[in-house]
Amino acid sequence: DTQREAVLAAVDAVAGRLSDEKKYLTDLDSAIGDADHGSNMSRGFGKVAEKAGEMDGEIDEIVKTVGTTLIAEVGGASGPLYGGSIMFASQELEGGITAESSVAFAEAYLEKVQDRGNAEVGAKTMVDALTPAVHTYKKSIEQDDLPPLTALAKAVDAAERGVRFTVPLKARKGRASYLDWRSVGHQDPGATSTLFIMEELLDVAG
Ligand code: ADP
Ligand code: MG
Ligand code: MG
Repeated sequence: DTQREAVLAAVDAVAGRLSDEKKYLTDLDSAIGDADHGSNMSRGFGKVAEKAGEMDGEIDEIVKTVGTTLIAEVGGASGPLYGGSIMFASQELEGGITAESSVAFAEAYLEKVQDRGNAEVGAKTMVDALTPAVHTYKKSIEQDDLPPLTALAKAVDAAERGVRFTVPLKARKGRASYLDWRSVGHQDPGATSTLFIMEELLDVAG
């Protein structure tokens, strides 16, 4: 059906983008980490795209498989955060993708990332891109009554500001925190990959 096609198209688009950005993400991670974020993400979503053809069942099961594949393939700090949170949030898509269930998915995803990583906004992590994005998406749909596509475009803008906001921060979570003040002035790799994924979702949805 069309929702399944859309999810598979999204997987392909994200895999392609992360493969294109592999060097860029790894460069960001080499400044404040261990220079593997690009290869972790590109390998993980590459595997997801490879397996996508065999993914069947309902939307929530397909999305769950995306999560479990990422857990198995990505590794590091970001693997369980991305994979585990997608897996957890996939439950919200049980009745298919609607404006309402997409908000529930986004909230559950953020909740799990925060829960697992225990990072507040301002700790210089993916949470800094994700939190404003999810809040903007929810508000745009539930309060401002905007169509999901418009809401997603606003969420992408919010994520982009969140990514820029990571630059002056001192990392308080993850490997970058070992650098203490030397992490200041660098953009967080995980916040950046979060933005890239969201940009591709917007592109496929639009
Ligand atoms: P690793 O640091 O294990 O090599 P990656 O390089 O793939 O893993 O991912 C690093 C990214 O993971 C960071 O840029 C940051 O955004 C994210 N990250 C690390 N620790 C946490 C955490 N506790 N909570 C949220 N995100 C985190
Ligand atoms: Mg790394
Ligand atoms: Mg690593």
